[in-house]
Amino acid sequence: MTVRQVITWGDPRLKNKNVDVGDWTPDLDKLVADMFETTIAQEGAGLAAPQVGLNINLAVVDVNTGEKIVLINPEILREEGEQIGNEGCLSIPGVQEPLKRPMKVWVKNRKPNGAWEEVEGEGLFARALCHEIDHLKGRLFVEYFGPVKRSVIQRKYQKQRRD
Ligand SMILES: [Zn+2]
Repeated sequence: MTVRQVITWGDPRLKNKNVDVGDWTPDLDKLVADMFETTIAQEGAGLAAPQVGLNINLAVVDVNTGEKIVLINPEILREEGEQIGNEGCLSIPGVQEPLKRPMKVWVKNRKPNGAWEEVEGEGLFARALCHEIDHLKGRLFVEYFGPVKRSVIQRKYQKQRRD
């Protein structure tokens, strides 16, 4: 397993369209293992393929409440309730901001063997599912904020990258 380099805010590959995963291959097994390894090494809660420069609909989630999953061509079916909590992103290191997310989500997900499953997530797991599925749509969590707040975050982020 290899820790992969995570690309950061401003890299166009985070905004590219991601294509669905086709037939499962041993290369994808290796990629998923590397993505879990990278998530742990960076103390994250998950990682999407575009963050390692690959524009495919694949992500991993591994939260400290024990839930761990490989997301393949996932789609949110339903959301319920809301929660406000700090969110961060391995592609925007050093930035954590409170963000409202659904308390529960139901996700349609493909398994490596091609079968479909429905995944239910609550709390931190629901937040991580939403965050990673957003990445697959080219959306970063800071884009939920208005232009003023976003530019404040961006300045803080850039200053900290320089220091
Ligand atoms: Zn992220």
